[in-house]
Amino acid sequence: MVKKVVIIGAGLGGLAVAIALRKQGIDAQVYEKAYSLRPIGAGLTLFPNGLNSLDAIAPGIVESLEGAGSQTRMLNLRKSTGELIAQKSVTFMEKYGRPMLQIRWSRLQEILASALPTDAIHLNHRCIGFEQNNSGVEVCFDEGETVQADLLIGADGLNSAVRQALIGDGSPRYAGRMSWRAILKYSHELLPPNEVMSMTAPDGKIFGFFDLGSGYLFWSAATLAPDEFVAQSAIDVKSRVQEKFSGWAEPVQAIVKSTAAEDIIERPISDRLPLQNWSQGRVTLLGDAAHPMVPLLGQGANTAFEDAWELSQCLSSASTIEAALASYENSRKPRTQVIQIRNAVQANRAYKADSETYLRGMMEKAQVSDAEFEEWLYNYKPSVTADLK
Ligand SMILES: Cc1cc2nc3c(=O)[nH]c(=O)nc-3n(C[C@H](O)[C@H](O)[C@H](O)COP(=O)(O)OP(=O)(O)OC[C@H]3O[C@@H](n4cnc5c(N)ncnc54)[C@H](O)[C@@H]3O)c2cc1C
Repeated sequence: MVKKVVIIGAGLGGLAVAIALRKQGIDAQVYEKAYSLRPIGAGLTLFPNGLNSLDAIAPGIVESLEGAGSQTRMLNLRKSTGELIAQKSVTFMEKYGRPMLQIRWSRLQEILASALPTDAIHLNHRCIGFEQNNSGVEVCFDEGETVQADLLIGADGLNSAVRQALIGDGSPRYAGRMSWRAILKYSHELLPPNEVMSMTAPDGKIFGFFDLGSGYLFWSAATLAPDEFVAQSAIDVKSRVQEKFSGWAEPVQAIVKSTAAEDIIERPISDRLPLQNWSQGRVTLLGDAAHPMVPLLGQGANTAFEDAWELSQCLSSASTIEAALASYENSRKPRTQVIQIRNAVQANRAYKADSETYLRGMMEKAQVSDAEFEEWLYNYKPSVTADLK
């Protein structure tokens, strides 16, 4: 049914779905606008649901990831003054058989990319649109090149060009929050191995530190910000962080001071409301292109891995592309909608933004206790179609 698939975006979701499809003998080719696979996200938390999906896609990969990252055992919450407010041990391994894993984005991307032949990833290819008919889809790139495929997957992130051509629903919603992230080699007595520490202030500011193993540390900071203005130079970005968090207790000052300005990523936080449909004919979406969410629950990449596995399974078992994409949406939409909405509702509280009537309605579905929600989220087991068992 499907011999050749073009995937737009060599992010985490695009690479994962390419691996899953190639395992089925499908010629999956990934097209990426960047000139090289640069680390774009500093550090990332992988949860049991995302790890289960990665294990289904590439058995053994989770062991490589565990060797490259750090398993979180303890969460600590402090005030911006340094006072310890709460501690919680993380027992995911005991409860779900998988850890909460902190990993460098670049290592994760490298490990995924190394599972693909190098000639299956085409850098410096910006997708600008597509044309489809009953027999195929033609994908267009900005240098005038075109590529034919049986199926096109838009895994091109928050500002997806494929989504714009398919749905045309404009820009994402700015969530009223600016974020900064970086990785550095650093050790501090307040940041023991296998622990995460968050520091918080009543005005919506937060500063988190994540042990990444091998002496690396990932920090992530955020504040309320009325607009999406980003600084023009690396020096300005670093000054902005220093100014926003001036007066915060150590290790904030020492760590920001030790971070090279050019290593700090500044990014507005945005999302979109859930979509009714995200496929048409021979074109579908995956990951942030389909269901971008604010990062409160750290589920964006984890759910992209779930999508990648489910889509490969649907393609292997359905008799037509349309049927495969319909069953992919049916399996993914209810779950990702709940996660998107729960993120957005919690962000409404955490980011102190105005709530929306639509979100209140959708919240009915997601209105379960934190404990129930956690069970549902992390106990996710990727399904296996009968003919692949
Ligand atoms: C502050 C912050 C913290 C986060 N923390 C976590 C976390 O702990 N855990 C987690 O699971 N998620 C987290 N996320 C979310 C996570 O980063 C995303 O959900 C995830 O990267 C989505 O993967 P993706 O492959 O769908 O898209 P992306 O990773 O955005 O990849 C899209 C790719 O497509 C390429 N591309 C874009 N347009 C085109 C085009 N026109 N043509 C060709 N290529 C194109 C891009 O260059 C990029 O390589 C966080 C996000 C933020 C902002």
